[in-house]
Amino acid sequence: MLKGKTAIISGASRGIGAAVAERLASLGADVALIYGENAAAAAEVEERCRVYGGKAESYRCDVAHFDAVKETVKRIRADFGAVHLLVNNAGITKDGLIATMSEADYDRVLDVNLKGAFNLIRHCTGLFLRSREGCIINIASVSGLMGNAGQANYSASKAGLIGLTKSVARELAPRGVRCNAVAPGFIRTDMTGQLTAQSQHMLEQIPLGTAGSPEDVAEAVAYLATARYVTGEVLKVDGGLAM
Ligand code: NAP
Repeated sequence: MLKGKTAIISGASRGIGAAVAERLASLGADVALIYGENAAAAAEVEERCRVYGGKAESYRCDVAHFDAVKETVKRIRADFGAVHLLVNNAGITKDGLIATMSEADYDRVLDVNLKGAFNLIRHCTGLFLRSREGCIINIASVSGLMGNAGQANYSASKAGLIGLTKSVARELAPRGVRCNAVAPGFIRTDMTGQLTAQSQHMLEQIPLGTAGSPEDVAEAVAYLATARYVTGEVLKVDGGLAM
């Protein structure tokens, strides 16, 4: 279904990003994997993607840095020839109460989660416009819809990502480029890690009664990657948590 298409996936060395990369590769896409620090894990994801017969390469890049992202997109274009699909998945948490949250923790979360998505969209849009097709999928969170005590920085970044998604969807729709978001609930990855009392409480609120898997989120990304009449949508994958 995605044969001949190139997808960039940020945060692809672990968790949801790794599952998304494998799912898109299974649909025939060539995949460019952006990661932060974990080169060995990214190389393993590359290998798992190549099993499906397409091309897979990984690129170390801090998505928070405008010029580094520009350089990386340039390298990807040289290696793959074109870019058709962008999944903004790289994300971090630095939780804390608002009364004591440091400026550095607020800024870093916004820089990676929100500005990182802007940076990649900004540097890929020219490529999308040139080929008159493109698809952007931003991995937001139900925290951006509902808020979450102790996550003011993270929730702000994810709510911002939803606004970014809708504006870009409106702006680029006339040029044949779609932009959607996925809002996962509680997904088992390194990010959710050890269960705390707060996360145990959140699990108990999930109508479907269990945490989701990275593959559940990857399935939603695969749907949006091929849903030609869907743009500006925020698709929750949360077991009913935020309904
Ligand atoms: P994860 O397991 O912690 O993985 C994070 C990924 O992002 C890693 O590949 C990491 O690369 C990469 N990354 C972090 N900072 C980066 C940077 N500055 N530049 C480039 N890459 C960077 O996280 P996850 O749980 O899979 O989450 C993926 C996305 O889903 C995030 O946006 C998160 O907010 C969102 N989400 C997750 C959940 C959940 O319950 N897990 C729920 C809602 C939304 P390295 O390891 O190579 O450094």
